[in-house]
Amino acid sequence: MTIAHDIKTVLEFFDALGFERLPVTIKRKSTGTQVQTDNRKGATGLQSFKTSELKKAALEALREEIGDCLRCKLSKQRQTIVFGEGNPDADLMFIGEAPGREEDSQGRPFVGDAGKLLTRLIEKMGFVREEVYIGNIIKCRPPMNRDPEEDEVTTCLPFIARQIEIIAPTIIVSLGRISAHILINTKIPITKLRGRFSEYRGIPLMPTFHPAYLLRSPKDKWLVWEDVQKVLARLKEGKK
Ligand code: SF4
Repeated sequence: MTIAHDIKTVLEFFDALGFERLPVTIKRKSTGTQVQTDNRKGATGLQSFKTSELKKAALEALREEIGDCLRCKLSKQRQTIVFGEGNPDADLMFIGEAPGREEDSQGRPFVGDAGKLLTRLIEKMGFVREEVYIGNIIKCRPPMNRDPEEDEVTTCLPFIARQIEIIAPTIIVSLGRISAHILINTKIPITKLRGRFSEYRGIPLMPTFHPAYLLRSPKDKWLVWEDVQKVLARLKEGKK
């Protein structure tokens, strides 16, 4: 591999993601050999390191592009934009609908009671929260946690679409009715959608209940557990 080849790969990567300039930070001093610890997705540690670093930079550039967004009316009452967080090179991506009160104040997704339930689910699946990526369709809290309106979805959707494109997860788990309806483009009730793989732009997507619903209906937790078993089986299959 030549340096020219590496540069070409980087440029193609960002071009494919729609960036018009490179999100580059120039470091003046070398910090020595960098060690790659996560090589799940790459053929070699070096390859995986590059991918992970590129994805991290692309996500940072996207966050910069969103800025202090005023593109829709949800900007008026929000405290914080909740961009999403986790592993830029995650195999598994969880996508909910919009931030709630706690998320709005902390600027992090799924950190209230529903978020704690999601974190427990992720851990029961055998991951730590930092290994997956967690985001929402909408990045600002709708007043009184109402459903996002069509114009708000239309305006904000391209951001999560770009995040999915950058992260390129092996599987998406959509949480709740709204996320599933938007990502799969259907109106089929979540009770009928959940538990069966659908697709978002070629990526397998498992719709399941939102953790906030499970707080109200704990008896349905086992259905979500069933759904994520299918996700784990598919992930395992992909690694054979
Ligand atoms: S919801 Fe999305 S589009 Fe609307 S202001 Fe927030 S970040 Fe911008």
